[in-house]
Amino acid sequence: MTPEDSYDIIVVGAGPAGSTAAMYAAERGRSVLLVDKKKDLGVPLQCGGFLPHYETLTELVPNAELPYTLEEIPKSCIHTSTSYQRFIAPSGISKGFHVNADAIDRRRFDKHLAKMAGKAGADLLVGTNVTEVNGTELVLDGAFGEHIVRGKVIIGADGPNSTVGRANNMLRDADPMGTGTAFEYEISGVDVDREAVEMYFGKDYVPGGYAWIISQGEDSANIGVGIREAMFEERMGARDYLNRFLYEHPIASKKLEGASIVSVVAGLVPVGGAPKVTATKDTLIAGDAAGHIIATNGGGISTAMVGGKLAGQTAADHLEGKCDLTEYEKRWREQMGLEIKTAVYARKLMDKLMLSDKLMTAAIKVISPEHMKAIQCGQLPETVRKSLLKLNIGLN
Ligand SMILES: Cc1cc2nc3c(=O)[nH]c(=O)nc-3n(C[C@H](O)[C@H](O)[C@H](O)COP(=O)(O)OP(=O)(O)OC[C@H]3O[C@@H](n4cnc5c(N)ncnc54)[C@H](O)[C@@H]3O)c2cc1C
Repeated sequence: MTPEDSYDIIVVGAGPAGSTAAMYAAERGRSVLLVDKKKDLGVPLQCGGFLPHYETLTELVPNAELPYTLEEIPKSCIHTSTSYQRFIAPSGISKGFHVNADAIDRRRFDKHLAKMAGKAGADLLVGTNVTEVNGTELVLDGAFGEHIVRGKVIIGADGPNSTVGRANNMLRDADPMGTGTAFEYEISGVDVDREAVEMYFGKDYVPGGYAWIISQGEDSANIGVGIREAMFEERMGARDYLNRFLYEHPIASKKLEGASIVSVVAGLVPVGGAPKVTATKDTLIAGDAAGHIIATNGGGISTAMVGGKLAGQTAADHLEGKCDLTEYEKRWREQMGLEIKTAVYARKLMDKLMLSDKLMTAAIKVISPEHMKAIQCGQLPETVRKSLLKLNIGLN
């Protein structure tokens, strides 16, 4: 398909944020173009797919009006469901809490969300790279060759290296600890716990982060490491750490014995919080592009969709003359700004403890399961904050 020359709203990126934005904007009768450089949406996979159930998400971001597409996830997009989250400390002790969640198949889920946007009336253009952003004029490069398209509003939902964000100076903090590298394998031939998602800590295996094992049902699993390059040992890369975890971790390597690796994936995780500005008079950014992620666990599917919904709705409101586009900034910060900010603060406290296996083990020992759940939800109860600060003092 060759795109029209102009649209009311152009959304760059058909991940969870972009497709949600396009759907909500198109439902309001606006002409919407949704563009993605991927030829096959959701591929390559760049996600563990862990997504808590709708009821838990209402606790995670209690002030957010969640998109209905988070409530109505087709069964075909779900590998399996889990009911427990377990933390394994460097010493091997473990602790956890109940949480109902799905392991989503992002290859299918991303396509499903884009189809929902199409059904609402958005034009969808895959295999099309946005190579230049000049105000509200975009240069597209796709199967049709180069094409210039104009929008009244541009929504950048183009991930952590957002071209739209960069062109508009909407940049996240340059702190090297503010970006995580995630490296994952889909594996088969393993007998992992199908009820529990596991998170492993330990500076030698996962510097500045954690490793996960997420069952995908039957004998398959997604395993990965989310770590920070600033804390890597010399001559070690993310893949080396995942291999070390898979083959040498005293607990995990036994569970994962005999694994066949069927897919390899890497991506960036923006854990440094949102840029100061996420809206101008004609452009918005949402999802990973806007740091809409819970920094303590790197989970961003649901928050990206909340950001996308608000971007699509605000763009439509603006074009109906109801508000300035900058209203978006206020809306998303009211709905989930506190959780995103608190999670960054908690992540910074944990970063220091992660330098020492002894202190990280002590932290997992002192934090109750309920409080662990709260931290995962972007909250930091005062008692936990004090305990973590005390441990941090132990570090100095
Ligand atoms: C390895 C890994 C594991 C993860 N595991 C989890 C997890 O288990 N649970 C969870 O909640 N979160 C997880 N996350 C985070 C989660 O994947 C993201 O927060 C989420 O995908 C953000 O959605 P988004 O729509 O903002 O961005 P994305 O999903 O990154 O989508 C952005 C889209 O923009 C397109 N794009 C980029 N630039 C251009 C351009 N110039 N032109 C056209 N298209 C463009 C890309 O092709 C892409 O499709 C993980 C991340 C990684 C890297």
